[in-house]
Amino acid sequence: MDHSISMEKIVSLAKRRGFVFQSSEIYGGQNGAWDYGPLGIELKNNIAQAWWKSMTQMHDNIVGLDASILMHPRVWEASGHVENFTDPLVDCKKCNARFRADQMDQAKLESKTCPDCGGELTDTRKFNLMFKTNIGAVESSNNIIYLRPETAQGIYVNYKNVAQSNRMKVPFGIAQIGKAFRNEIVTKNFIFRTCEFEQMEMQFFVQPGSDEEWFEKWKKERYAFYERYGVRMNKLRWHQHGPDELAHYAKDAYDIEYEFPMGFKELEGVHNRTDFDLSRHAEYSGKDMQYIDQDNGNARYIPYIIETSAGLTRNLLMFLCDAYDEEKVGDKGTNDDWRTVLHFHPEIAPTTVAVLPLMKKDGLPELAREIQNELREDYKTSYDQSGAIGKRYRRQDEVGTPFCVTVDYDSKEDKSVTLRFRDSMEQVRVPISELSARIKSEIKKYKRV
Ligand code: ATP
Repeated sequence: MDHSISMEKIVSLAKRRGFVFQSSEIYGGQNGAWDYGPLGIELKNNIAQAWWKSMTQMHDNIVGLDASILMHPRVWEASGHVENFTDPLVDCKKCNARFRADQMDQAKLESKTCPDCGGELTDTRKFNLMFKTNIGAVESSNNIIYLRPETAQGIYVNYKNVAQSNRMKVPFGIAQIGKAFRNEIVTKNFIFRTCEFEQMEMQFFVQPGSDEEWFEKWKKERYAFYERYGVRMNKLRWHQHGPDELAHYAKDAYDIEYEFPMGFKELEGVHNRTDFDLSRHAEYSGKDMQYIDQDNGNARYIPYIIETSAGLTRNLLMFLCDAYDEEKVGDKGTNDDWRTVLHFHPEIAPTTVAVLPLMKKDGLPELAREIQNELREDYKTSYDQSGAIGKRYRRQDEVGTPFCVTVDYDSKEDKSVTLRFRDSMEQVRVPISELSARIKSEIKKYKRV
């Protein structure tokens, strides 16, 4: 058996255990769209919650927002998306394959040779990534509407509403999690790049001149987030955008890259967007977007914006890849010597505790259910009574459940259970009355080894 780690194995586990399914699978699938199954949605919610906590609960000066996906079309003219949000596209005249000119073999591009079939390629042309549709009963050029390609603009157009209604003072931030849509030319690598995805963005409004300092602060903070949630730090690195990569709005930009099975790729961007967005919205809407700084002699200025922009669904893929391992745990020379395990941080894991009665009889299931009912108040639990206990542990390892509680015959007498740890596979005896508190303290001190 091959025990190397590959994207194929991760995709297969994700499907087999109900993390991610292909969209519309029974019709042959829909390109660039995926469905999150029972464990996938728990995992996604946990990542979103961890991000939300770290960006709002942990800061006095950051508040949340949930703006709509459909916005006034002028927003996307002001933001520059109508004009600039394009990828360079080439097609093969023979096999109709499509390529992003900036991501393909440059020699093939120059000789106009299709990398797939050797046919002739078209000239490079600009392709706008925004999904465009019409709102209302008739299709006309007067009622064009876009699916938002990023959540950020919903924050910018609401910045004054938020500042005024919540008496926010610069520097302050607005956080948002939501869907975004991009008509990506090439969707591959599972959920890495999709047409429908979710973003977790925080826009931080600062006084011009203090932007570089805040930029450094947010870079540090975002990196620390991944460490806090157990990501292996040797898998992360920074990539600074060179002059030819910088977006039209950016003064400086760094990506946090993660080493996926297909190599280092962008996970999140930290951008200094200057006063570009708010100035453009002032220009296009005719509204005053200046901030009046009452602590600073009523100085008026358009704040600079430091943005942290992470993909939620791309984060989910990263957490899956980072957690995935195949470990040798025995010496019998059989498949049982190996286990597949997801080393999720307990706050990220879809299920926190599995409760397992040793036998399906003699009152053990009843006691196990009682224990589960107590634990479910505080944790996501699951219950499994079928099969040998070793097999049940393996099933939980494979979906990353950090704690298993086994109820055995002694439990009825000594009112204790076995607590088994996923990573070390160690087992300890814990009184039922102390179980919840013990799990809590284990979560608090969790460190991936
Ligand atoms: P890329 O260069 O990969 O196309 P980008 O630089 O255009 O990405 P941003 O516009 O900075 O990406 O978006 C911020 C984050 O949103 C990215 O770091 C990524 O995590 C996520 N993201 C962007 N596009 C997609 C997509 N098509 N599918 C999934 N996640 C995406």
